[in-house]
Amino acid sequence: QAQAVRGVPPVSVFANSTAHWRHLDAAHHLHPFSDTKGLNAEGVRVITRAEGVYIFDSEGNRILDGMSGLWCSAVGHGRHAIVDAIADQLRQLDYYNTFFKTTHPGAAELAAAIAQVAPEGFERVFFTSGGSEAVDTVIRMVRHYWAAVGKPGKHIFIARKNAYHGSTIGGASLGGMAPMHAQGGLPIPGIVHVQQPYWWGEGGNMSPEEFGLFAAQEVARAIDEAGPENVAAFIGEPIQGAGGVIIPPSTYWPEVQKICRERDVLLVSDEVICGFGRTGEWFGCQHMGVQPDLITFAKGVTSGYFPLGGVIVGERVAEGLIEQGGEFHHGYTYSGHPGGCAAALATLKIMHEEDLVARVKCEIGPYLQERWLPLANHPLVGEARMVGLIGALELTPHKETRAKFPGEVGTVGLIARDISFREGLVMRAVRDSLILAPPFTLSEEEADDLIATVGRVLDQTL
Ligand code: PLP
Repeated sequence: QAQAVRGVPPVSVFANSTAHWRHLDAAHHLHPFSDTKGLNAEGVRVITRAEGVYIFDSEGNRILDGMSGLWCSAVGHGRHAIVDAIADQLRQLDYYNTFFKTTHPGAAELAAAIAQVAPEGFERVFFTSGGSEAVDTVIRMVRHYWAAVGKPGKHIFIARKNAYHGSTIGGASLGGMAPMHAQGGLPIPGIVHVQQPYWWGEGGNMSPEEFGLFAAQEVARAIDEAGPENVAAFIGEPIQGAGGVIIPPSTYWPEVQKICRERDVLLVSDEVICGFGRTGEWFGCQHMGVQPDLITFAKGVTSGYFPLGGVIVGERVAEGLIEQGGEFHHGYTYSGHPGGCAAALATLKIMHEEDLVARVKCEIGPYLQERWLPLANHPLVGEARMVGLIGALELTPHKETRAKFPGEVGTVGLIARDISFREGLVMRAVRDSLILAPPFTLSEEEADDLIATVGRVLDQTL
């Protein structure tokens, strides 16, 4: 068992062993989104390698990576073509920045490659190191845009409760996660959080379609209350990922778009999870049939092989920024890092060559959905939902009333998640739901295996 004791254990006893890594980890590592005290007592899980859709821990267990790492391993693990592309790039040019009128071939080529797959009218890309920085960039870029075009009053962002937009101060403020707001004095001023389109949990007696319209009208109400002349943008994930894979009713997004257009409020699609194929379209907004003004991305674009994110900027905002904005005093040391650009170009090459987005839409997506949706027949499952390769199971003691379990919310979800891991499948628990987002390369056989495992998990949780 790991203990938080000081000093390095004798190498002869512990080197290259789970105990050694646990010891070092417990003594020195502060983990994101973890209760360190609890972790140290339990001993962390040590992942040592990955191949295809599987990860392997230090004790030799093979586990199906049902969460694509953290929603990022789109093309699967162990792709040497991406590793080689990064290594070749770093040998050629390890680092140079893209500030002050400088570029490098990878950054220019990647911006063009992203514009090629982005929805029509998206020709410009601003690079960051990840999703949170992309979201922070949006806050500054959108406010700068409105000031540049002569409407400096438009500064308020409308976002949603239970949204996740990252962990920086800006991202966590736009996000609607109550536990995050409870730490560090968030959110920052100028953000209004509205009803999320979570029919299963919050739809009451309304039909999903009615509830979708209701949730959209809450966006209208918030804009009107703040005054449209003060509202800069609405931001939302096409499908809320970290909030529990919340797939909005079909009525929601078209109505939100209409509301924003009527009030001259920009629409930002946070595609850090949905972007680059997860929903079976290149971007989640295309699946939802909406045309945003800005798109944030990260994760899948490099399939997690290197940190890189960014903002794809639509025509209207790009024109205002370029023609009237002057210098944008914003950027990150690693905006357009050569290694990240090489990883993304190699990832996109694989996606094109293997037609992976179409595979998610027409082959493995429907194959998995056909087996996932019937899990709703299990006594413990109230709703099974999935779009492309992103899905959730709502666990409930009573399907008809969509009741919650007695006791603390999330307890049953965590039990199920831990059983799943022991059974060889990574799923994540959000409240009392289980969520899934496997790599696009999942085979039919692996999908069958995954579904059989979920069945065993549910039976053991009951
Ligand atoms: N936006 C969304 C929708 C996300 O899901 C995430 C991360 O999960 C982020 C932003 C933050 O991205 P990162 O963790 O790369 O900073």
